[in-house]
Amino acid sequence: MTVHDVVILGGGSGGYACALRASQLGLSVALIEKGKLGGTCLHNGCIPTKALLHAAEVADSTRESAAFGVRATLEGIDMPQVNAYKDGVISRLYKGLQGLVKSRGITYIEGEGRLVSPTTVEVNGERVEGRHVVLATGSYARSLPGLDIGGRILTSDQALALDYVPRSVIVLGGGVIGVEFASVWTSFGAEVTIVEALPRLVPAEDEASSKALERAFRKRKITFSTGIRFASATQDADSVTVTLEDGTTLTADLLLVAVGRGPSTADLGYEANGVTMERGWVIVDDHLRTSVPGVFAVGDITPGLQLAHRGFQQGIFVAEVIGGLNPAVIDETAIPRVTYCEPEVASVGYNEAAAREKFGTDNVAVYEYNLGGNGKSQILGTAGFIKLVRQVDGPVVGVHMVGSRVGELIGEAQLIYAWEAYPEEVATLIHAHPTQNEALGEAHLALAGKPLHAHS
Ligand SMILES: Cc1cc2nc3c(=O)[nH]c(=O)nc-3n(C[C@H](O)[C@H](O)[C@H](O)COP(=O)(O)OP(=O)(O)OC[C@H]3O[C@@H](n4cnc5c(N)ncnc54)[C@H](O)[C@@H]3O)c2cc1C
Repeated sequence: MTVHDVVILGGGSGGYACALRASQLGLSVALIEKGKLGGTCLHNGCIPTKALLHAAEVADSTRESAAFGVRATLEGIDMPQVNAYKDGVISRLYKGLQGLVKSRGITYIEGEGRLVSPTTVEVNGERVEGRHVVLATGSYARSLPGLDIGGRILTSDQALALDYVPRSVIVLGGGVIGVEFASVWTSFGAEVTIVEALPRLVPAEDEASSKALERAFRKRKITFSTGIRFASATQDADSVTVTLEDGTTLTADLLLVAVGRGPSTADLGYEANGVTMERGWVIVDDHLRTSVPGVFAVGDITPGLQLAHRGFQQGIFVAEVIGGLNPAVIDETAIPRVTYCEPEVASVGYNEAAAREKFGTDNVAVYEYNLGGNGKSQILGTAGFIKLVRQVDGPVVGVHMVGSRVGELIGEAQLIYAWEAYPEEVATLIHAHPTQNEALGEAHLALAGKPLHAHS
């Protein structure tokens, strides 16, 4: 029987990145996938949602075109055509990825696998042996007790397949996935109400970012209730009704349940083979090793940020560890976070509250640069800010941004954070005019004590 250097269970962001890097290092790899290569991100996550958000932007631009002197009328949203565009993007990327995996000589096995020993995955009745095993089975959309998915009650999986625009939607959960769908449906003409149990939308972000997003959503007529819990939901042929804990009822065409994602680890033989788990999550050390020697885990099944690029980086990291290299341990705080609603929210590093807790409340300074002073943002007609968090007399430890397209600025923000740059150092770099990127430069100029286009 062939013994592979690496057997990977799950062909999503974490699993396929590990397979590609391992094969690059000359290791023999088996990659086992029960669904489609590319996993959640490519087929049910990042890519389809961002395609919908782009179509939403086109709708908004058309609706608002008169303000720019362009005469155009938004006649409507042709949802089957939107889906054709979205599916075209997915299918091109899917083909590319399949070709990549094939060209690298990876043994790709279709089927549902199960860990049957620390070195063996059983799939389609066959045993696939590896000197190392990487668990990468991803996550699923969770619901709440008593809230069954079906009919008018959807998760993101069903929402991505809708072939019509609902008249109204209740979105349960004001985190990343909830606000992205709220944004799409609003742009497509639906009435949207978000219900979030925590006190603010995108609660994992800096409080200032939540406030700015809430302001922008109010302007877009997106209704939301924060700090209130869901109690129950009922549906009939015409509508779905949600009751909140304070007795308020809301009625809409659809209810999107966006309350988080759980690890897909049940009944896969992990625990049975001695892998330490906690509430379904696979516990790993900073080298992504599980409690069982030779067994690693990457991606959404490990506790932390559920992001595709985290999965990629973890997959690459594990391949390099197995390949005998000594990769730098991944700094989770340096992972960039982008929420692609309109306006976008992007951040890296510590938010102000976390920085004050970590470095001491008096050892932290913050600066907020209003996009009102940024030429390109004015041209685009977007409001928002760039907020910097620095250690007093020390490096920038957090960058937080709100505004149309600010997600594209996260690359520089990440370098600033990861390279522990001082505002004085960034202030010497030249940012092209007029770009939104310039706003990052301006914020650092201001924090370095020499603001240019900013009122002090
Ligand atoms: C609506 C939505 C939008 C998102 N948007 C973004 C975004 O914009 N940016 C971002 O960074 N992240 C985004 N994410 C998150 C991102 O999709 C995940 O973090 C990423 O896909 C995790 O990768 P993974 O490899 O851990 O798991 P997955 O991508 O879920 O892959 C796991 C794979 O394992 C397979 N599998 C499971 N069990 C078995 C088994 N027993 N045998 C064989 N195969 C198995 C599954 O079929 C799946 O293909 C989004 C997610 C959702 C749901």
